[in-house]
Amino acid sequence: MKRRIGIYPGTFDPITNGHYDIIRRALHVVDHLVIGVARNDAKGPLFATDERVEIVRDEMKYLENGGGERIEVRPFETLLMHFAESVGASVIVRGLRAVSDFEYEFQMAGMNARLNPNIETVFLMASDRYQFISSRFVKEIGALGGDIKHFVSPRVAERVVARFNGTKLEPRRRK
Ligand code: ADP
Repeated sequence: MKRRIGIYPGTFDPITNGHYDIIRRALHVVDHLVIGVARNDAKGPLFATDERVEIVRDEMKYLENGGGERIEVRPFETLLMHFAESVGASVIVRGLRAVSDFEYEFQMAGMNARLNPNIETVFLMASDRYQFISSRFVKEIGALGGDIKHFVSPRVAERVVARFNGTKLEPRRRK
């Protein structure tokens, strides 16, 4: 049978327990998962693309049952559909949080379906423990010295804290 390749695109600035949960679930749906780390400079990310790729790669070593071996982490800055085609993906994985994600995701899935009707967008829901987590609030809490260990891995928490200790706390541009 053909190996089913999925792509999970995002900014991952930084990767949170919510992303982690979606990745675990995606591995039930696809044989091989490419995590696409979008460059997204316009969003003024806390971590540069290379750092985000490195952090996600490192985190994947901690996936249980050797899940990390079925994962590849790659940066991209092209159109998502072109990236998906270039890795031979048949599925785009997105996570859905609350109603707030729906409008944007609905439009993106609809337009992507027009660009390439052979690649399906699949929405996965994180467990209710993780649904409320967003990278944006992790950064805001981190910037103000709050405890982020419930939302990200201890390793990521350490990096976020180090980043904020090393930088002036200027307001960052929001999504
Ligand atoms: P984007 O900047 O495109 O929202 P993110 O890195 O924030 O990219 O997220 C990538 C994907 O992961 C998106 O589909 C987003 O909805 C999903 N996601 C992020 N956090 C969660 C969460 N806590 N639960 C479910 N899905 C999530």
